Amino acid sequence: MKEDFLHYLWRLARFDLRDLRTTEGHPITIQQFGIHNTDAGPDFDDARIRIDGLQWAGKVEMHLRSGEWYDHGHDADPAYDGVILHVVMEEDRPVFRSDGSRIPCLELRERIPAGARISYRRLMHNEYWVPCQTQLPFVDRPLRSLWLQRVLAERLTRRGEAYAATLAGCGRDWEEAFFRSLARALGGKVNGQAMETLAASLPLRVVLRHQHSLLQLEALLFGQSGLLPEPEPEEASYVKQLRREYALLRVKYDLRPLPVTSWRFLRMRPNNFPTVRIAQLACLYHRSGQLFGKALAAAGTTELRNMFSVSLSNYWRIHYRFGKTAERSERRLGGQAIQSILINAVAPAFFTYGRLRADDRYRDRAVELLESLPAEKNSVISKWRALGWSAASAGESQALLELRDNYCNNSRCTSCAVGCRILGRTDPGEPTLLNVHEAERVYRLVG
Ligand code: SF4
Repeated sequence: MKEDFLHYLWRLARFDLRDLRTTEGHPITIQQFGIHNTDAGPDFDDARIRIDGLQWAGKVEMHLRSGEWYDHGHDADPAYDGVILHVVMEEDRPVFRSDGSRIPCLELRERIPAGARISYRRLMHNEYWVPCQTQLPFVDRPLRSLWLQRVLAERLTRRGEAYAATLAGCGRDWEEAFFRSLARALGGKVNGQAMETLAASLPLRVVLRHQHSLLQLEALLFGQSGLLPEPEPEEASYVKQLRREYALLRVKYDLRPLPVTSWRFLRMRPNNFPTVRIAQLACLYHRSGQLFGKALAAAGTTELRNMFSVSLSNYWRIHYRFGKTAERSERRLGGQAIQSILINAVAPAFFTYGRLRADDRYRDRAVELLESLPAEKNSVISKWRALGWSAASAGESQALLELRDNYCNNSRCTSCAVGCRILGRTDPGEPTLLNVHEAERVYRLVG
């Protein structure tokens, strides 16, 4: 058992509240359970409790064993002097404040509903892809929908924080931050970091100064990427021109290219090669410089999609990488790539813009944009679908990715609405969810 189970029991008052007493026998009345503190310091702030008729207001700390107070060094930390109640599974030794006064202690071990204890154990000790997966088909739609909305907001907030850090690194220039974020989205999982580093190595003001010439934009981006090949006698004049342009621009702006080892081509579809993505980035900025401003002004998802739909210059219509001719095609940014840009660059930018300007319209636009896009297709979303949780939109698929990454994989079931429902509904006297074996049998029938 972990301490988070105690937090859950306390937060939702899921223990026997009758005739509460300290381990010394003094009666306790809980008036306010307090606010869960997930940062450093005691576990709950602003609790209000009466002990032996005396009113107390302050912090509550929790441990499985009371002796952990000393194991964790709280006796030497003044932040813990304000603790008014120590809630433990079991008191194995008394605990004192630095002034020598004893901290009242409440033991929970005899007060936990048997069903919650069993369900908790089942959730924490199984090998399923998602620990509660046998119960998922029985979670009602309203709970599922509300919970996914909340998890989506958490994902956008988390990504917004990363975006705000990028923005701070760009001198709060929204266009510059968007340039980096767009480059990262274009690079995808494999080359996203290298694409962002490439964009960060090239100030947007330099890109915009050469926006009118696609050749110069390509020279800047390919030159900086380190992917421009060494001279060869038979090479196309395009490559020679790129090299010539880059040599001049590099000196003019004191540029330092990335090492060629930054890039991955292996096991990638040619359409996703970094060379193709860099050429697309050049085309996007050749067509329009102020992409973030344009995205903010766009009337809806269709206009946003059109903004990012570009086809490539002549050389890149017959090449996926330098020096290797391929079948001719426009190499237009595909629907999936544009969707990835909208999900990973535009929505976080809108959300951050709304948060930093305290303007809910842009936060809402981020959510509306995700809800207007189809669900993503990847192995994680397919597995959720097989468990009966299909994503209806990119908003839901993003929420499901977040749920698995930040809740299920970290065993945060006691902080999850589904987990709380499972733990709560197995209390004696309440309607129970099926046990694991029954649920598996029914799941096979419905699944
Ligand atoms: S975190 Fe929630 S969804 Fe994930 S396994 Fe636990 S209860 Fe289920």
